[in-house]
Amino acid sequence: MRQIYMDHSATTPIDQEVFECMIPYLTDRFGNPSSIFYSAGQTARQAVEKAREQVASLLNALPDEVVFTSGGTEADNLAIVGYAMANRHKGNHIITSSIEHHAVYDTCKYLSNYGFEVTFLPVDGNGIVEPETLKTALKPNTTLVSIMHANNEIGTVEPIKELASITHEAGAAFHCDAVQTVGRIPVDVVDLGVDMLSASSHKLYGPKGVGCLYVRTGITMQKLLHGGGQEKKRRAGTENVPGIVGFGKAAELAQQRMDETGKRLRELGERLAQGLLQAIPYSRLTGHPVKRIPGHVSLCFEFVEGESILLMLDQVGVMASSGSACTSGSLEPSHVLLALGLPHEIAHGSLRLTLGKGNSEEDVDHVLNVLPPIVERLRQMSPLNNTRR
Ligand code: PLP
Repeated sequence: MRQIYMDHSATTPIDQEVFECMIPYLTDRFGNPSSIFYSAGQTARQAVEKAREQVASLLNALPDEVVFTSGGTEADNLAIVGYAMANRHKGNHIITSSIEHHAVYDTCKYLSNYGFEVTFLPVDGNGIVEPETLKTALKPNTTLVSIMHANNEIGTVEPIKELASITHEAGAAFHCDAVQTVGRIPVDVVDLGVDMLSASSHKLYGPKGVGCLYVRTGITMQKLLHGGGQEKKRRAGTENVPGIVGFGKAAELAQQRMDETGKRLRELGERLAQGLLQAIPYSRLTGHPVKRIPGHVSLCFEFVEGESILLMLDQVGVMASSGSACTSGSLEPSHVLLALGLPHEIAHGSLRLTLGKGNSEEDVDHVLNVLPPIVERLRQMSPLNNTRR
C-alpha cells in the first residue's frame, strides 16, 4: 500500500544529502572537537564550526551567537531558565502565551514553583497573541517574554517583530520558540529583533536530537548543564558532531530551497484545506486563515474523535496527527485548541495534516478521496451524532 506521510510538523524525514554528509563523522572522522592537539580532533572542530556558520547564515546571526543543544526542548529550557535565573536580581515576572509548546509552557510553570510569577497571555480565536494584550501584561519586574513564532498545532504565525519591540520598550528580553518555522519560512533574528531563538534540526530534514539556541551578543544567561567548557561555556558536554554536521547541511539546503518549497506547499495546503472544508460538513479550519505555516492544514470535525480518524487514515496509508504528537495519547483536548475558545467536544475532533517537500498533488488528491468517507462512516457510528442538527 502507498504510504503518505503528512505529519511534517511532528518530524521530517532526513534528506539524503544531509545523511551522506553525516556518515564520515559516524565512522572515520570520530575525533572529539575539544581534542585540538591532533588532526582527528581538529577535523571534528572544523566540521562543528562550519555547521555553526551554516545555521547562523540561515538565521542571519553571527556564528558565535549559535549555541548547539540536543534539540528544541533543551533550547527552550536553556533560554527560559537560563535567562530568568541569571537576571533574577532585575525581576521575577515572566510572560508567555497560553498556546506554547510544552517545552516552553511547562518550563515557565516549573519556574513558578521557584518564586517566579508567570503570566500566560490569552490568544484570539485564530491563535494570535495581540500586541495590546502583551502591552497591558508587562510590568516593571518583567524580565522575559517568550512567544512562539508559529504554533505546532494550528500553524498560526505570530507578530513576533511587534511583540519583541513592545517587550524591549518595557526593558525586558524576548525569546522566540521558532522550532516550527526555521527552515520553512524566513527567520531573520535581526529583523525580528529577538534576543534568543530556539530551532530544531529534525523539523528541517536534519537528524533528530540536535538543535540550537540563538543568543544575541550581550545577553547574559546561566547554563543549565554543568561540566566541560564546550559552546563557549554555555552548554557543557561533548558535541554531537554527526548531528551538528547534519543540522548545518539541512540549514544550508533549507536556505536554498525555502522560496520554492514554501510556495509549492502553500498551494498544496490551500487546495487540501479548501477541498476538505467543502467536502465535509460541520468542519472548520483552526488557526489563522492566512498567517500560517505553508502546508499546515489543521481542522476540527464535529461529532467525531480525532484519534478515530487517525486510526482509519493509517489503514489507508495516510500518516497524520491529532493535535501535537506530544499531546496525542492523552484524552484531554489540547490546551491550544481550548485556548482558541473551542468547546471540548469540537476540540476532540481535531486533525492536523502537515505537508512537506516529499508530498505531491497525487497525495493531496488521495487524502481528498479517502478522508470525507472516513469522517462520514465515523459519524454514522458515533453516539455524538445524536446531537447533529
Ligand atoms: N517547540 C515546538 C513549537 C515544537 O513543535 C517542538 C517539537 O515538536 C519543540 C519545541 C520541541 O523540539 P524537539 O523535538 O527538538 O525537542
